[in-house]
Amino acid sequence: MNKNYELLCQEAVMHGPLESLFCCIGDPVIGNPTQLMMEATFRSMLFPARYLTCTVTSANVEHAIDGIKALGFSGANVTAPHKVAVIPFLDGLTESARLSGAVNCIIKQEGKYIGDNTDGKGFLTSIELIRPVAGMHVLVIGAGGAARAIITELALHGASSIAIANRTVEKAQDIIDRVGPHVKTTFTKEAFTGTYTIGAQYDLVVQATSVGLFDPGTGFDLVWEPKEEGSRIAADVVFNPVHTQFLASAEKAGATIVDGLGMLVFQGAIAVTHWTGKEANCESMRTALEEAFTI
Ligand code: NDP
Repeated sequence: MNKNYELLCQEAVMHGPLESLFCCIGDPVIGNPTQLMMEATFRSMLFPARYLTCTVTSANVEHAIDGIKALGFSGANVTAPHKVAVIPFLDGLTESARLSGAVNCIIKQEGKYIGDNTDGKGFLTSIELIRPVAGMHVLVIGAGGAARAIITELALHGASSIAIANRTVEKAQDIIDRVGPHVKTTFTKEAFTGTYTIGAQYDLVVQATSVGLFDPGTGFDLVWEPKEEGSRIAADVVFNPVHTQFLASAEKAGATIVDGLGMLVFQGAIAVTHWTGKEANCESMRTALEEAFTI
């Protein structure tokens, strides 16, 4: 290298190393709050990084993953509807991603781009702050992507039984077929019509449908069989509004409630630790989200 050029580099405005790059891909992705919480934690960790939110159409998923690799991104998040579609273009999968069949987080490891699923792990963290899930009897309402990730992680961590109630009962069966052979958990499934009596046998009840999202007045017609105050945990995946109609009815029935912000923050925090090797600042992430949500 020419000596003059070396000197010029040393005096250049942009000193190295370059900031790490991350992104979230989805469609639609406008309104996705991930960038806000990631930027908040990167700032508070003094970690030099940029986080972008990118609309990627289904036709461009392969190109987007190629781009992430070519530009040397340090990691990425994947949101609906691409959590399954990205899989063939990645260099490998973690156990959670393989069993749940969905990727929400891409980790760069020794130059390879590995798909993980931190949704279920984030949910698990939010529950295990209260009580371990091992041995629990669980009811999950819903069988979409979020439910799939949650059920996988609950089963991997020793939930005794999981009942899945979903409008489209075949989707519940798909989850059972995929996860069942790898775990000791007992599974049952049933059709869900929106009117439901929640049995006293459940230690944990998870609302994992999209019903109630951006719509505080909407929910299901639920009856909660009596159970000792605080002995039942009720968790919602919906995070906006934070206090959903489901959580309000659970609280009235004496359940300990867990809102969807817990899962959102912890799945993000797990991703940050994968990417940076450092602990994320969960408090700054939650505050950034609470300030952003207007509903
Ligand atoms: P999917 O589209 O994959 O699944 C939607 C689920 O909701 C399905 O089980 C679907 O039933 C059910 N559903 C939708 N409308 C109705 C209805 N009117 N009555 C009964 N059931 C209904 O979405 P995701 O699983 O990806 O997302 C679900 C929710 O979870 C969203 O609100 C999303 O924002 C939230 N989420 C939260 C996260 C967090 O960190 N807190 C992380 C990921 C998602 P069917 O199968 O019959 O269509």
